[in-house]
Amino acid sequence: MMWEMVIGLETHVELSTKTKIFCSCTTQFGGEPNTHCCPVCTGQPGSLPLLNKEVVRYGVKAGLALGCHINLVSKMDRKHYVYPDMPKAYQISQFDIPLCEHGKVELENGTTIRVNRIHIEEDAGKLIHEGSTYLVDYNRCGVPLIEIVTAPDFRSVEDVLLYLEKLQGIMRTIGVSDCRMQEGSLRCDVNMSVRPKGSDKFGTRTEIKNLNSFTAIENAINYEFERQVDILESGGQVEQETLHFNSDTGETVSMRDKENANDYRYFREPDVVTVRVSKEEYDELLASLPELPDQRMRRYVENLGLTETDAKLLVKYRRVAEFFEAAADIDAKTAAAFILTNIFKSVPTEVEREEWQIKVSPENFRELVKLTSSGKINRNIAKRVLDRMLETGSAPAEIIEKEKLGGVDEAEFEAICRKAIEENPAAVADYKGGKEKAFQALIGYVMRLTRGAANPAQTEAKLKELLNEEA
Ligand code: ADP
Ligand code: MG
Ligand code: ZN
Repeated sequence: MMWEMVIGLETHVELSTKTKIFCSCTTQFGGEPNTHCCPVCTGQPGSLPLLNKEVVRYGVKAGLALGCHINLVSKMDRKHYVYPDMPKAYQISQFDIPLCEHGKVELENGTTIRVNRIHIEEDAGKLIHEGSTYLVDYNRCGVPLIEIVTAPDFRSVEDVLLYLEKLQGIMRTIGVSDCRMQEGSLRCDVNMSVRPKGSDKFGTRTEIKNLNSFTAIENAINYEFERQVDILESGGQVEQETLHFNSDTGETVSMRDKENANDYRYFREPDVVTVRVSKEEYDELLASLPELPDQRMRRYVENLGLTETDAKLLVKYRRVAEFFEAAADIDAKTAAAFILTNIFKSVPTEVEREEWQIKVSPENFRELVKLTSSGKINRNIAKRVLDRMLETGSAPAEIIEKEKLGGVDEAEFEAICRKAIEENPAAVADYKGGKEKAFQALIGYVMRLTRGAANPAQTEAKLKELLNEEA
């Protein structure tokens, strides 16, 4: 029998507001354990949470970017569980009235993923294993999160990866999160069931908690798919349970703890006021939504003439797209080629491309594209100049001046062309005898003597002019 996987995702995105959701502690990643805490985010008796309005605004932006309906009035609820990562034994989240509902994400492969809801909530602390001891770090307690819950619309690993990449791009573009899986600011719970291909009924699902890398997600899904299929093919039944993925063994294992005791005893959080978004605020947030990666990509293809592949690579990282746009009006294709071939080579990792801490300023990049596009320097030289710019951060004009790459002056150029003719009598004779190819040898000679600084078209013209003079 052919089996099909059915997946729904619950994705946690840490918001990059300066302060936490209910207190003024910093949200900064890292730091000495338990130094970014106060009585509120560690849930001390008598402390009172005060909702950070910025978190609501970020949540609304995320909802709008995913095409959601925004509930202008929503509320916070307590979700109870006992576990050392949450000192007050409940998480303040949203239960029956989330901030956003009914959005969708269109994937490149044509699949549409429905977004059921987005709610705001607080993050929990981190448990650190040390031998047989658990240590707790509460720095992350109270960091604001949005949880984005999809319908069970994924049918393959590809769907899941495309969705997460797209989500990353959108969240980064609207500036609500850096979505760094390696720092835990994007984490995923995978809900999965299998069914015979063609069936329209859903099977029993399991939930794999807290996956934090693309590789882990891919491996966990593939493993769990096989596991469930094996159970069903041998006549068994999949048990609905919460699983943990062990990336060392590559297996999913049952988590017999808080998550399996699925009675959260939700009730309204009495200490936090009703969450309200005014109509004015809503309109303002809607109007301030920037161009999203998809729209940007289409614009690059339709208005700037880039290929879809190149456009996709450029819009993947917000800062790269902005850098590109500093020079795109001059010559989009040249600017794109410089970034995608030369600069990307020196910035090889995802993280580096996202951070985009290169030494070349947008102004200097623009200048280089101008010099190249106008023919002041040829492409070979431009690439050399760009490499030096990446190393030193200097302006292109400065590098050209210092390294004498600025083409050749008129008189010197003519002298070199004459020399090419004098020193290569055989090539000249061949050319005159009708062998066009022999001409390339003369151009090559000029290129060598000018260390690549001459413009090939100009060289050809000059050589022909001199040869005609001779004749
Ligand atoms: P709960 O209320 O128990 O958390 P939800 O209805 O909110 O359950 O679903 C949680 C997640 O599980 C959603 O992402 C949803 O798409 C997914 N899901 C629900 N049923 C299935 C299923 N049979 N197979 C795969 N995923 C499912
Ligand atoms: Mg759930
Ligand atoms: Zn605090």
